[in-house]
Amino acid sequence: MRNTQATRMLFDLSRPGRRGTVFPACDVDAPALDALLPAEALADAPPPLPELAEPDVVRHFTNLSTLNMSVDTHFYPLGSCTMKYNPKRNERLASLPGWLHVHPYQPESTIQGLLQLLYELQGYLAEISGLPGVSLQPAAGAHGELAALMVAAAYFRDRGEHRSIVLTPDSAHGTNPASARMAGFDSVTIPSGRDGRVDLAALRGQLDQRIAVFMITNPNTLGLFDAQVAEIAELVHARGGLIYLDGANMNAILGITRPGDFGADLMHYNPHKTFSGPHGGGGPGAGPICVAAHLEPFLPTPVVTRRGAHYALDYDRPRSIGRVRAFFGNVGVLLRAYCYIRTCGPDGLRQVSENAVLNANYLLSRVKHFLPVPHGDRCMHEFVASAERLKHDKGLKQPAMDLGKRLLDYGFHAPTVYFPLTVHDALMIEPTESESKETLDAFAEALFHVSGESAELLHDAPHASTISRPDEVTAARQAQVKWTCE
Ligand SMILES: *Cc1c(COP(=O)(O)O)cnc(C)c1O
Repeated sequence: MRNTQATRMLFDLSRPGRRGTVFPACDVDAPALDALLPAEALADAPPPLPELAEPDVVRHFTNLSTLNMSVDTHFYPLGSCTMKYNPKRNERLASLPGWLHVHPYQPESTIQGLLQLLYELQGYLAEISGLPGVSLQPAAGAHGELAALMVAAAYFRDRGEHRSIVLTPDSAHGTNPASARMAGFDSVTIPSGRDGRVDLAALRGQLDQRIAVFMITNPNTLGLFDAQVAEIAELVHARGGLIYLDGANMNAILGITRPGDFGADLMHYNPHKTFSGPHGGGGPGAGPICVAAHLEPFLPTPVVTRRGAHYALDYDRPRSIGRVRAFFGNVGVLLRAYCYIRTCGPDGLRQVSENAVLNANYLLSRVKHFLPVPHGDRCMHEFVASAERLKHDKGLKQPAMDLGKRLLDYGFHAPTVYFPLTVHDALMIEPTESESKETLDAFAEALFHVSGESAELLHDAPHASTISRPDEVTAARQAQVKWTCE
């Protein structure tokens, strides 16, 4: 059922003089405003704010909150994003008054508990990654990439080496080459082989003294673990380069293997993905980075340290790249990550990854019968199916988009579509470990059903949502879109 209540603006609902709270008449003489403020500070008229009663406001925002899909309302198989359930326990613990009311300008001696938590989190992230140097500062995965590449640049500068190129595979997330450019490097793409893994011959052909960093996502965005990674690391290290591990897919390997053990020198985490922080409209992210010991001196300041029983912020790091964000990072997200890691424990984290991989393989085994999965019968935490066949069968121009939109009518969020670019009409599906077999079955059946529907039905989908197909370019460029509804 269309929710039309919330599609009207508060300004449309406004009635002059309507109020949520009515104050009693003032029974003391109030001074005139111009006696309190200079004339030029006074506006000619009050601001044109909507005037409403309390229930109007409550209903408006409550209805508004139901317009979007969320992990709390729907299954969200958004590949590459790890939209797992956000345990309410994290929220409860993160709202304890001790965390809620600290201020970043408080003296260190009064925030020892918070610093201890951040210090311990640094230790857990180091342990899970196998890389000992940790900075919690970056504000998102992409920001972590940038910070880590700046660390790499500082390292080469310190050694007096001029290296200008960052290599990224063609299946990499767009943030990888973008971060490379922002950090002052040129970015060069390495093609994948037919099996979806890094083409080693192409990589060898690019390796010379100009190569600073090879960025790899492992498992990659096709949901494949590139078992060549140790060999790749050897090749790159032999030429003096560094390996960067894009950790967005850590959900597949927690407690099973560690980037530091398979040759990575630097990496970022996306705690809002892997460690269950709300994201994607639900909250901000964080992008802690971990580095090998030889890169540790270049990490951003401050780093949380421990001196005996006292926790402190260490700014005295002469070779550091400096600050990349205010204070200690997005502490609210880090707190939830800490709660999640402590709640699961080492064995629990491993189980998270095992179940994420199991769920993805179960779904793959059902979907491949009606949408081809070009890169094989097995995957890690996600897989990429192709809807290309529907182009020919039904004459659809963007079949993956149409299927994704139509799934909304069945109460499922769309998978990621048209990424990675290496699979035509890609549908990238990541169920995560949070979902039950019943949910996975219902999703597979809905996807099967819609892939058999008529071109007309698919092309105009969704039919049941408040808004159907906005003009995405205009929506992105002009945030205020006019939409009509009955
Ligand atoms: C999500 C993602 C990123 C970017 O992370 P943000 O936290 O969104 O900035 C980078 N690489 C991959 C593979 C991702 O999935």
